[in-house]
Parts: sequence; C-alpha cells; structure tokens
Amino acid sequence: ARTPFIAGNWKMNLDHLQSIAFVQKLAWSLKDSKHDYASVEAAVFPPFTDLRSVQTLIDADKLELSLGAQDLSDNDSGAYTGDISGAFLARLDVKYVIVGHSERRTIHGETDEVVASKVAAAHRNGLVPVLCVGETAEDLEKHGPSAVPVAQLRAALASIPGTAEIVVAYEPVWAIGSGQAATPDQAEQVCAALRETLVEVLGADAAAATRILYGGSVKSGNIAAFMREPNVDGALVGGASLDIPEFASIVRFQH
Ligand code: 13P
Repeated sequence: ARTPFIAGNWKMNLDHLQSIAFVQKLAWSLKDSKHDYASVEAAVFPPFTDLRSVQTLIDADKLELSLGAQDLSDNDSGAYTGDISGAFLARLDVKYVIVGHSERRTIHGETDEVVASKVAAAHRNGLVPVLCVGETAEDLEKHGPSAVPVAQLRAALASIPGTAEIVVAYEPVWAIGSGQAATPDQAEQVCAALRETLVEVLGADAAAATRILYGGSVKSGNIAAFMREPNVDGALVGGASLDIPEFASIVRFQH
C-alpha cells in the first residue's frame, strides 16, 4: 500500500524567521491529533533560505514532518551563479525536491530536457524528485486531458533507473491558484493514465509503489474526495499550505 503524501509547496512565501514560527505552530497543530493522521506523510517545501532553519527545528524537536526543496540545479557544482546543487540539499537532510513545477516551466523556460536532467540530478544526489506534470487550458482543449501530462512524464523518465524512487504530481495549470480545482473524476482519469505510463516505463512493481499526487486548488473541503480515487495518493498544496489550520486539516483528510 502507498502511504498518503500531503505536501505543502510554500512557493516564494515565508522568510526563514517566519518559517520557524510557522513550522512550530504547524507541528503543534498536527501533534494534537496525531492519531488522526498517523498513516499520512506530511511534508513542507520552503524556500531555499529557510531550509537550514526548518531542518534544524525538525531535527531538534523530532518532528514528523518531511522536508523538501522547490527546485535544484541539474549540475552538482561549478560556475552556475544563483543555482543550488542537489548535493547541498542532501547535506541539509532534504529528502524531496520538486522538479518541473509549471511555474518553473513557464517563468524560467524549463523544457522537458531540463526537467529530465534535474530528475537525474536529484537521483544522483540521493533525493526523491517530486516531478510535476500538467496541461494548460489550451492543451486541454486541443489534446484532451492526458496527452500532455503523459508526454511530460515520458520525457522526464527518459533516463531514470527503474529502481530510483520518484513521486509524480499531476497539476493541471488551469487549476493552480485559480480556486478552480479539477473534479476528482478528472484527476483520477489523468492519474490512472500516468500510472499506466509508469507501468510501461518502470515496470508493474515500481508503478504500483509510486505515489501520484493531485495539485491545484486543493483545500480541506475537497481533499477527501480526491483521496477516495484509487490512483490519487496525496496532494501538492500551494495556497492552502500557508494557512496552518487549513493545512493541518488537509493532512487529517480522513476525519
Ligand atoms: P494552489 O494549491 O495554490 O492551487 O497551488 C498548487 C501548486 O502549484 C502546488 O505546487
């Protein structure tokens, strides 16, 4: 069985001082009701400048919170001003790294090739990539629901060894930050197609073990319906992950 994964992508919000207060309060809020979410893995993805503070706090207080970064360089060191190496993230006990978020693809022009080489860089450094795929409203109209996300997944997996762990996040671009989530049916249809692709590329066992998340306007009010779908194993939460009670109740989606 796949452990449900609820991940908060903070995007460019909360500085390192704010992140400490935030994570302390979040941990309290989750601890209060630990029996309600014991089988769920909760994770936060703060900005780079917060990672050291959050990691220290998780370590010192033994918080049951996984840590991820929002991006990494496809190179491990060298003359790449402003970029962050996966090796540096691994040294900070970061476990996960988001790769190919639609905001990186559109604002920073990351192509499928760049995304594939970032997936490889994550694995090379012992990090688990959280690979984001998803279609725009225009793609949806032109190609239907699954074609673009499936093509993005294939491209990103081009060079991964079958044994390396990966998390896939289906985030329809039209649903991100719009308040207009996909329906659970729509999410399931695409997540099932993504799992079929994983079967073809990685084999049945790896595909069955891989967690596929839905992202795009997830809130406490719609999470349970997504989680009832057989191929949706969790959520990548943006806006709602910045609200402590809201994020905590998403983590406790069974209740
Ligand atoms: P929202 O939850 O704000 O729609 O953002 C989703 C997202 O982009 C998570 O990576």
